[in-house]
Amino acid sequence: MLEKELEKYFSFSQFRPGQKEVVEAIIDGKDVVALMPTGGGKSLCFQLPAILSEKISIVISPLIALMQDQVDALNARGIAATYINSSLDQYEIAERFDDIKNGKTKIVYIAPERFGNREFQSLFSKLDVYLLAVDEAHCVSQWGHDFRPDYLAVKEYIAMLPNRPIVAAFTATATPEVKDDIIERLALSEPAVFVRGFDRPNLKFFVRANLKKKERIEEALRIVKSIEGSGIIYAITRKETEEVVRFFKENGIKAAAYHAGMTGDKRSKIQNDFMENKFKVIVATIAFGMGVDKADIRYVIHVGMPSSPEGYYQEAGRAGRDGENAFCILLHSKSDASLHHFFIMTGRSEMSAQGKNWADAKVVTDIKYARLDKMKQYVNLDSCRRLLLLEYFGDPAVKNHSGNCKGCDVCLNYKWEKSEVAVDGIKKKIRIKKSPGFLGGTILETANLYKQKYSPEKIAKIRSLGISTIFNHLTEWYINGGEFVIDDFLNKNEEDKILQAINEVGNFEKLSPLKNILPPEISYEKIRMAIAKMQREKL
Ligand code: ADP
Ligand code: MG
Repeated sequence: MLEKELEKYFSFSQFRPGQKEVVEAIIDGKDVVALMPTGGGKSLCFQLPAILSEKISIVISPLIALMQDQVDALNARGIAATYINSSLDQYEIAERFDDIKNGKTKIVYIAPERFGNREFQSLFSKLDVYLLAVDEAHCVSQWGHDFRPDYLAVKEYIAMLPNRPIVAAFTATATPEVKDDIIERLALSEPAVFVRGFDRPNLKFFVRANLKKKERIEEALRIVKSIEGSGIIYAITRKETEEVVRFFKENGIKAAAYHAGMTGDKRSKIQNDFMENKFKVIVATIAFGMGVDKADIRYVIHVGMPSSPEGYYQEAGRAGRDGENAFCILLHSKSDASLHHFFIMTGRSEMSAQGKNWADAKVVTDIKYARLDKMKQYVNLDSCRRLLLLEYFGDPAVKNHSGNCKGCDVCLNYKWEKSEVAVDGIKKKIRIKKSPGFLGGTILETANLYKQKYSPEKIAKIRSLGISTIFNHLTEWYINGGEFVIDDFLNKNEEDKILQAINEVGNFEKLSPLKNILPPEISYEKIRMAIAKMQREKL
């Protein structure tokens, strides 16, 4: 009855496709390789067995920001999880080491470069580890698009442990070669392999090829203006991210750049503001591991072609993690490919400068070119784009694919030329129609957590959504009869002020005139709550 534990620890009513099988295999003591799409729910596959075991489990994860998010979400659920990475000072690390030694920690997230550290080794080599989960396991493969040499140390670490733990590897982007590489380089022992379909039917794929650089930024703006909700724009260079942000701001769209050239503090601030919907669009460079984990991203627009389908699917896959419809739009220009050619050639010279032999360098370079070719093929395709991606990732479901996914520009026979009309079409599709009494799954999920006495702050952490989004869900639920106790979040005094403002303005059709005459500490969420109360009392 794993469903019971799922409900108990995660408050989810059912497993997503593929999750249960993986959890069962781990509980049976088997090594596992699980290939599942972004947003498919990989974390739960290792977290649940880890929670159910008496012993400690280790999760290897490459990105500090994602590590923190996952640990926060686990802590919000009352599970003793922690992380160890370079963002901590030595005292914090010592404290966490103590907790681990004293058996206070159930799950510990680790960045793989830690394995080089002596103190780390002396503590961690003595642990009795139940499960070692390797997240983003494609990083261990040189064929992967995001190879990290530190990942190679994982195998040695496993060999060092007094008892061999169960080892489970997870990735969203593996091709069959990468999968074999993962098995070998982590020395998995007769692993159960799970390939869950890579398709994400709620994602709609669109490509517009051969735009001039200026044109595509304009096109991106038009699209952003026509789609509700927030999104990510990926550009190839930092300079381009800044250009897009400037152009968007000039045209009244709130946007912020996000790239490796910024300080960590600046990036966290931008992330938080984005989570809270303080601006609509985040503009990042491609291939930059972004710690933004917002579940309700409605579109990912590339103003620049990525260098590989792996990279593209991963970045585009950040859209629609809440399961609602979302758009993945690639705006291509002819010069994109030459830029990548240039990067590949520089990479090759770097390899020879570092003493890599010619044959090895050639193998790596050839792979990069093959990926780039695949990307070019994707852009210029006149058949189903989704099918190309699914075939490339070795999705077992392609056997039964009709060739018409009804969710890409080719299959929809979508015409970009009449772009006003076209973009309007996107707008119609993306709006979630709200008929009274009908609530989307995402609102009900929030309501479900609220009913289980989670605070809005915790629900936001658990669901990777901004707190303002959670309040809006709860208010919407309330209007439709839900038992959200507004008075816990809106006091009488504030409510009176809001009602008075409504009197002054004469209506509550738009919130900003009300907000303008109210004290700044009265937020939009509170105004919505006060209106919701009025509306419900009237009914
Ligand atoms: P991945 O690592 O595969 O990209 P995550 O593990 O981050 O995906 O999960 C994506 C989102 O789906 C998270 O917000 C998570 O809480 C949610 N989720 C995972 N499993 C379930 C489930 N069984 N029911 C509902 N939501 C789930
Ligand atoms: Mg993940």
